[in-house]
Amino acid sequence: MAEIDLEQEKKEILAAYRGLLRSAVHAKKDPETKRRIRKAFDVAMDAHKNDRRKSGEPYIFHPLAVARICAEEIGLGATSIVCALLHDTVEDTDLSISDIEKMFGKKEAQIIDGLTKISGVVDYSVSLQAENFRKILLTLSDDVRVILIKLADRLHNMRTIDSMRRDKQLKIASETLYLYAPLAHRLGLHAIKSELEDLSLKCKEPETFEEIRSKLKKNEEVRKRFIRKFSSPIKKALEEKGIKFEIKGRPKSIFSIWNKMIKKEVPFEEVYDLFAIRIIIEADDQDEKALCWQVYSVVTDFYSPNIDRLRDWVSVPKANGYESLHTTVMSPTGKWVEVQIRTRRMDEIAEKGFAAHWKYKEGGEKSQFDIWINQIRELLENHEDNAVDFLDDFKLNLYAEEIFVFTPEGDMKSLPNGSSALDFAFAVHTQIGEKCLGAKVNSKLVPLSYKLKSGDQVEILTSQKQRPKEDWMNYVITHRAKSKIKNLLNNEKREIANEGKTILEKEFKRLKIAYENISLRELQKYYKVRSLLDLYFKVAKGEINLSHLKGFEVRKGILRPKQTIRKRVTSYIVPRKTAAKEANDPNHALLIGDNMEKLDYTLSKCCNPIPGDEVFGFVTINDGIKIHKTNCSNATQLMSNYAYRIIKARWIDDQNIAFLAGIKIHGIDDMGIVNNITQIISNELNVNMRSISFESDDGIFEGKVKLYVHDTDHLNDLIDKLKNVDGVTKVERVDE
Ligand code: MN
Repeated sequence: MAEIDLEQEKKEILAAYRGLLRSAVHAKKDPETKRRIRKAFDVAMDAHKNDRRKSGEPYIFHPLAVARICAEEIGLGATSIVCALLHDTVEDTDLSISDIEKMFGKKEAQIIDGLTKISGVVDYSVSLQAENFRKILLTLSDDVRVILIKLADRLHNMRTIDSMRRDKQLKIASETLYLYAPLAHRLGLHAIKSELEDLSLKCKEPETFEEIRSKLKKNEEVRKRFIRKFSSPIKKALEEKGIKFEIKGRPKSIFSIWNKMIKKEVPFEEVYDLFAIRIIIEADDQDEKALCWQVYSVVTDFYSPNIDRLRDWVSVPKANGYESLHTTVMSPTGKWVEVQIRTRRMDEIAEKGFAAHWKYKEGGEKSQFDIWINQIRELLENHEDNAVDFLDDFKLNLYAEEIFVFTPEGDMKSLPNGSSALDFAFAVHTQIGEKCLGAKVNSKLVPLSYKLKSGDQVEILTSQKQRPKEDWMNYVITHRAKSKIKNLLNNEKREIANEGKTILEKEFKRLKIAYENISLRELQKYYKVRSLLDLYFKVAKGEINLSHLKGFEVRKGILRPKQTIRKRVTSYIVPRKTAAKEANDPNHALLIGDNMEKLDYTLSKCCNPIPGDEVFGFVTINDGIKIHKTNCSNATQLMSNYAYRIIKARWIDDQNIAFLAGIKIHGIDDMGIVNNITQIISNELNVNMRSISFESDDGIFEGKVKLYVHDTDHLNDLIDKLKNVDGVTKVERVDE
């Protein structure tokens, strides 16, 4: 072990502390504030004096860094800095909440209590499930500083994730992508959200990340030149008008480029809008709006705008506080360029979020932020939901862009983009949603499912006879509407199900079967219903006819499935076993768990991993261990919701085992192409094919081949060879 220079370490800690003080604006002017921060530092220093981080450095560097992020990057004040310094003390050291309260005060104790409750959940050795996420979100209603400090904590952990074990890295990165980045987005912490996303991607897919990063770097000069040329006439005109401003060319984040590539299935080169031009104006409060439009007018004097893409968040800010004027204009080179126009104040809010906002507007009227927090509280009120569904809905609502619509009285409501008239009805009031018959949008009659657009004026038509229907779930996207409808439907369903239960009991009486001898589970399984409630409900609705319990027989007063059903099930398993043998039974190609044992597993169908892929095991409830690729589209959700069911897995080097993999080939249809492809696969490379299918449409052809390979090298080799076939334009691996 290397010798630690304690004197040197002490110097470095003090330097970090002085760095923190410099970033705490308030401390500079106020000696009392400075004293409080110093006290928190001393207490934290002493509490953590024997702790070191995974990287080996003294633990105190972590709270110092978190506090500095709070001050510098979120713009939080002294109380938050104090709490950030102490955030791990109650959890990890002998200090208690009441110690904190005695030393620092009630507010500080409350915030640290909130942080400790979360950190109990976020302890990396313990599971982090959806239910626990909800607990994190619940702290939002206590004091939002809890969640802001938590985000700073998470950001620092992501920045220093390299010293963690690989499986923990993946879990943390998944959680970050799944929850913390959307949360940062909703709180308007744009810079932190982008960094969290980039760091997660870097951790989960280092090669992809590096590729995009280096391509961006390579384009940097060209980009800068373009921005200089594009902005020079604007610069001149603004200077002549005496407007003070700054022009920045901002490349998109690596994560957002990657996201676009995946969503649109295009290569890097085709993600055309790799940057936006931002004009930041120095303006007094009362001139802000007028100046933004003046600058807009200058920009469009030189370049013609795409009217469809004008966004005015200056007049109507987003719910997360974002204010800016966006326009997309045509450059002389024929390229669309997004121009963002905003004042210095708006830019601060856009980058750092609402906390920065508070510095400008203190007290007074109800802010957008309060409105947002209230919405969150409402979402959390409903505890009946399944936790994972809840989170998925919630996340959807966190990320959704907003539209603004109006009531007949002219009141404005903001809803996520894609909301329907029915969503609007539930946003106004549950009872209006429940009795909603239809709507009038801009005086025209529309159905419940009608998708609203910004600026629509919506009047809801109700009827006392109306009741919520099953298919309403397909018309709504807001969490509020979904959970209310689910509740209403469940209430109604329960009433009907009660009748079903009575019918069922009568039927059993008639068959002379004692109620305790009935396996309701068998019945559920047989009729393929998910719950007892569903079973009773279907009985009541007449969808299950009990007068002929076809698949069951009564023997010795016991109701049981007939023998034939059991047989049908076994005959189904047999062909699957033979298929596995054909593939040289790959069940011994992986080592699993911390002790790297040979356990039984199956390869998941959603991503079909093969050796060479980075994989993990997921312990399912009924189906043993399933192996997924770490970049499987389900992985983020699994790892963050069921971290405790994730186990390590590593491939054994064995060339004798073959795995089923799929590839997709695109090309130009000509007579010989299919033949050439199959020739290469089966003759030249001697690879076994399991299936092959080709589709051709108007001269373009698409082929799907399933074949047996040893590992990713083998597969990539094959893909490279196929790319060289005449007429082939694209070859890619497919997971399903
Ligand atoms: Mn921490």
